[in-house]
Amino acid sequence: MGAILTQNTAWPNVERTLKRLRARKLLTVRGLLALREGELARLIRPAGTYRVKARRLRAFLAFLRARFGGRFGGLRRAPLGELRTTLLSVSGIGPETADAILLYAGGRPVFVVDAYTRRVLARHRLVPPAIGYEALRGLLERHLPRDPALFNEYHALLVAVGKRYCRSRPLCEACPLRFDLKGRPPRSLSPLR
Ligand code: SF4
Repeated sequence: MGAILTQNTAWPNVERTLKRLRARKLLTVRGLLALREGELARLIRPAGTYRVKARRLRAFLAFLRARFGGRFGGLRRAPLGELRTTLLSVSGIGPETADAILLYAGGRPVFVVDAYTRRVLARHRLVPPAIGYEALRGLLERHLPRDPALFNEYHALLVAVGKRYCRSRPLCEACPLRFDLKGRPPRSLSPLR
């Protein structure tokens, strides 16, 4: 739910939405699918672009019901490559959303790439600024132990560094990753990514 609701919105808005659904005891596959699309849209309004997200949530939940009888456990056991491909075919689920579902809901060893990942690594000259999603994901997965807990923490730390220090104007002097610049300025990204 969070992976879809967070598309193009800040996480606190997602938390408010999830709290709202939980308070109404609707945070279940069956409960959510029993709602009409309009009702669901109204309930998830705090997460923004709520009509689109209601449609996407229903598409994902319908997939979960058709493929795994509505149980999240299937996400933990199905063959990973085929599961990821199928998830990507669900309307509104792009690579970042699919990988967030696989990592956080399925506990699968998939690295979630986001704008902060690309920005930090590009500024440190570890990847070209225009590197594509799959290339960056593949690079990280090849160079890190395939451990979901580590991928989870690594992603969270990149987000934390990105939010606090690696902003449009980087605050390198206070950043914990400044040692890796080895005294050089970060690569300037133009247009900024
Ligand atoms: S040291 Fe500078 S470029 Fe590197 S992550 Fe921190 S803020 Fe970004």
